[in-house]
This record gives sequence, C-alpha cells and structure tokens, in this order.
Amino acid sequence: MERKLIVVLGGGESGIGASLLAKKKGFTPFVSDSGIIQNKYKKILIENKIPFEENGHTEIYKKAIKVIKSPGISRKNSLINKINFLKIPIISELEFGKSYLKTSYIIGITGSNGKTTTSFIVYKILKKKGIFVGIAGNIGRSFSREALKKEKDVYVLELSSFQLDDVFNFRSNIAVLLNITRDHLNRYNNNIEDYIFSKFKIATLQKKEDFLIYNYDDPLIREGLKKYKIQSRCIPFSIKKELRLGTYLKWNKIFFRKENEEKYILNVKKVPLIGDHNLYNIMASITISEMGLLKDIQKKKSIISTTILRLTTLEHRMEKVLNINGVQFINDSKATNVNAVFYALKSMISPVIWIAGGKDKGNDYSELVPLVKEKVKAIICLGKQNDKFVNFFRDIIDIIVETESIKKAVRMAYILSLHGDNILLSPACSSFDLFQDYKERGNKFKQEVRNLFYEKKRYFF
Ligand code: ADP
Repeated sequence: MERKLIVVLGGGESGIGASLLAKKKGFTPFVSDSGIIQNKYKKILIENKIPFEENGHTEIYKKAIKVIKSPGISRKNSLINKINFLKIPIISELEFGKSYLKTSYIIGITGSNGKTTTSFIVYKILKKKGIFVGIAGNIGRSFSREALKKEKDVYVLELSSFQLDDVFNFRSNIAVLLNITRDHLNRYNNNIEDYIFSKFKIATLQKKEDFLIYNYDDPLIREGLKKYKIQSRCIPFSIKKELRLGTYLKWNKIFFRKENEEKYILNVKKVPLIGDHNLYNIMASITISEMGLLKDIQKKKSIISTTILRLTTLEHRMEKVLNINGVQFINDSKATNVNAVFYALKSMISPVIWIAGGKDKGNDYSELVPLVKEKVKAIICLGKQNDKFVNFFRDIIDIIVETESIKKAVRMAYILSLHGDNILLSPACSSFDLFQDYKERGNKFKQEVRNLFYEKKRYFF
C-alpha cells in the first residue's frame, strides 16, 4: 500500500479534488492539513475512505512517492523544505489534474482582477456554441476534480498567481493576462517583480503555436512583455487605442482586427455589465472567441454578441442589492484590492457612501484619491484595525465612521445617505478579520440591507 502513497497537503477544494483523482487512478491518497478541514470536505473524504489528518502534519510524507501541494501553502513553508530535502517530488494540483487529460485545449485566464468574470463569460460563449467545455481552477472547482469526469474538448481555467507559482510545465493553448496591479504582495515579500514573474508564467510556459491575449493598456504587462521571453503569438486588447491587431474600442463600439480586416462586434451602450473593468473582461473574452480554435464560432459572430448582451452580474461583484427610498445598495465584497475599488468608484455616476476596510494586504490607497475626492461623501470603515485606512483618508473626507458590525455599517450608511446616493460595499481589503471569506461578508451585507428594507417598508405603510 505504502508504495503508492500520495500525500496531499491542504484539505480545501484543491486537496479534495487531487485526493479523489489520486484514488481513482489507483494511488493511496492521504490528506494532511495544518488547520481545520471544513466539514463539507471531511464528509467527502470519509465517504471515499480517504484518510486525513488536521491541525498539523505528521511525518507520513516521508513514506510518500509524491506530494501534491495545494496553492494556498507557501513554497517557503518549513514542511515544504523538509520534503524537498528528502527529494520527494512535489507536484501542483493543477499539473496533477492535467496529467490525466489527453487532448484537451486549455484556455488559462489570469490577472489581479476579473479572472472569475472573464472565465464565466468565455465559458458561456463556448457552451452556447455547443463546444464540450468545462470550467475550473480558482473559481472554486479544482481542475483535478473536473478531471475526474469525462474529458472535455476545452477547459476554461481561472488561474491565480499562487497556482502559477507551483507550475513548471503547465501549458495554456490560449493564455489571458487581464491586468497586473498590487495584490497579495505580503506573499511575495512585498516585491512586485516576484508577483509579475508569477503572473507571466502563464505566458512563459506557452509554445509558439499558442496565443497570449493581453491588456495593452496595462503598463506592468507591457513592461513584462519586453522582459520575459515569450514564444506564443501575442494579441492585445485595449479601450484606449485603436489597434492594428486585436480588440479595441472606437466610437463606443467594439471591433476586432486581424490582417487589416476590421470586424464590428457590438455596441458598448448595450452591454449590461457596468464599468470599464467589465469592458476589459468582455474584450478579452471576445479576443479569445476570435482565435483559431474557435473558427466556427467566428462565422456565427452573433453568438458572441448575443451572449455578451445577455450577461448578468456575478454575485459579490458590483451586484445591485436593493434600492431603498432612492438609495442604491451595491455589494462588491469581492473587491479585495485597491484596483477593483478604483473601477468600482469609477463606474459610479452619483454620490457614494463607501463601506471599506478589513484586513490590509499592504495596500497603497493613493490611486484612489482623485476618485474618492470626486465621488465619495462619507466612509464607513468596517474592520478590526482601521488606523491605516482612517489616517490615509481623514484629510480628504470629513465623515469617516468606524465599526466592526456590518449591521451598524449598513444603518449608518443609510442615515448618511440622500435620495439618489449609492451605498457601496467595496472593501479594498480581505475579509478575514471579521468574516470567514468575502462571500460571508457579501451575504451578511445583503441580509442587513434586506432587513432594513423590510423595516422601512413596515414603517412606510
Ligand atoms: P478575480 O477572480 O480576479 O478576483 P472577479 O471577476 O471575481 O475577479 O472580480 C473581483 C473584483 O474585481 C470585483 O470587485 C470586480 O468588480 C472587480 N473587477 C472585475 N474585473 C476587473 C478588471 N478587469 N479590472 C479591475 N477590477 C475588476
């Protein structure tokens, strides 16, 4: 039995997917987690007779033929050092999953923001066209778990920098670099170069027949393109410049150009998702849909535009919750970095009461100053340690209130609002000081907004 033992480090979505796949392929998996494994995952392990340990690692790894590492675990972790010292191969969950697929075409999507939104747009377009397509990766469904099922023709994979850190030959036939802004720098020794290197792995691991689709307007991506050796064919998209090749904006319309042939795709005014950030996501998706693999899609271009014109906002991303007496509540809990908030504020056309704060990841808020000055009336700081945030904005905004309660945050924001205002939860920080994750933060926000709505309705009648 021990001859085929595989130790899976991490009992989250990736670890569970990897252990199920390992079991299916005839290995003996063992899951080991330094913290607590969530009940829903424990249940799966027990049902599948996969042994596990939690709250710390024993030395069982010493007997493993291979270790599969979940992306949440840092490569600098002392356990990883010990495993490396013993020369036991460590493989990422992504590469383990891919090793069991034979012919699939991979569309890998990365960036600091917009990965989930873009992955879903692309997935919807391909599915609508009748392509046998799967979606996995950082979206909350591991690639290994997806690889348990019948092999798909195409996989759309959302790839985080942590996942990319762990791969050494993971090839995306189409790679997408949406944007690179400061995020997770605490994991990269506060060194943006290391973070950029990690994001660019999606491109540097490609071959010359592959495509790299990138954001032409992003200065860090353009710098990276000069620095890193990339063999694939590079196709840009831009909302600022009319391009000779790629997807661009002209007279509020989106066009795609290849070999001097300009093709009209759709009118921006009809796009249901708000904000420039979503235009970027849509343009990246259009560019993917125009690539060689999808030749038959090109002929039916209406599939691309009709799918895009029917898009709905994903939960926790600029999600309109309720309008109470003319005040619009918006849940953007997934905005866990400054750049996401930048685009959230940029898309606001009436005054904003901004609910922000949480666990700071080494944020630099300067980029937000002009937008905050122009659009924000008051800030509600929702977090355990608000000093950095408050100190930064106190000379700009007169009303800054602090709280650790989401209920109070919602109510204070409402008291401060006037008809026509927006109350925007767009935290710029992660949620772990007060919540389990961004979903819990967003759901609690929505619940409090609904409670307020019912109270006001009762009072009104
Ligand atoms: P990711 O999967 O990369 O975290 P999401 O699509 O889940 O991206 O969006 C996360 C946050 O970033 C949301 O607040 C959303 O409104 C914002 N966002 C989405 N796309 C972009 C983009 N292209 N640029 C900047 N912010 C974006």
